[in-house]
Amino acid sequence: MTSSYIGRFAPSPSGPLHKGSLVAALASYLDAKAHDGRWLVRIEDIDEARTVPGAADAILQCLGAFGMRWDGEVVWQSRRKPLYEAAFARLGSHTYACGCTRREIADSRIGVASDGAAVYPGTCRPGLAAGKTARAWRLRVPEHASAWVAFEDRWMGTVTQNLASEVGDFVLRRADGFWAYQLAVVVDDAEQGVTDVVRGADLLDSTPRQIYLQRLLGLPTPRYLHVPVVTNAEGEKLSKQTGAQTLDPGKPLEELIAAARFLQLPVEGVRSQEAFWREAIAGWARRFK
Ligand code: GLU
Repeated sequence: MTSSYIGRFAPSPSGPLHKGSLVAALASYLDAKAHDGRWLVRIEDIDEARTVPGAADAILQCLGAFGMRWDGEVVWQSRRKPLYEAAFARLGSHTYACGCTRREIADSRIGVASDGAAVYPGTCRPGLAAGKTARAWRLRVPEHASAWVAFEDRWMGTVTQNLASEVGDFVLRRADGFWAYQLAVVVDDAEQGVTDVVRGADLLDSTPRQIYLQRLLGLPTPRYLHVPVVTNAEGEKLSKQTGAQTLDPGKPLEELIAAARFLQLPVEGVRSQEAFWREAIAGWARRFK
């Protein structure tokens, strides 16, 4: 019997699965299995400028080879634009057109958001400033005193963020016309009935934005669990940019053991994928169920 738990893995197809994204995939898969839940895969190819042809298929193939089988059909964000359009329309006067360039925002130096981007100074909040044409669309966040969002992360504990001072009015529709990740992920998680989001801690900072959007749209907030991010010796997140970390498709068991070890799961000495999954799911369930 399956429970009401629905989890998901939502990779961006900007390259093949690597050691860091395997950890995120593994954690979400183990949490779903430990809860007798469903595990969905959603390809986040909404940022078409970053999509690498063939990467999505390579990711799916790798998940299969490593023994991670998803439930139902794979969902592709690039095919769901009408859903994002409809959600955006429902946000109505919470959104506004912005004509500022990246440079203008950086020069305003009002503050630096937690992800390193400049906090938007609100220039176009009262209406497009004279001489500007609409580029992006932003979401109006509340004034400082009422802009706190807090949630309980199943790994990280209590997380608190002030959307006004730490993020600012954030982009929902980008200057290049693509929907922003923040909007698409909220729409999709709700539409797919996701009860539990398990992903890398590089997205911890995004979660308060997503919770705020869920509230505005009247959508449920899932539970969250953010696993630590795999870093290189310099402390940088592993990604294609930092030049790391392709998986060896010929050694699925070794790669799985390394990812599980990073998650502090007791899988030393397992000799088959079958034994790996048994031990890893049991180990995860003891900690997180
Ligand atoms: N597509 C995002 C990424 O690959 C993950 C989104 C999510 O799990 O919410 O970084």
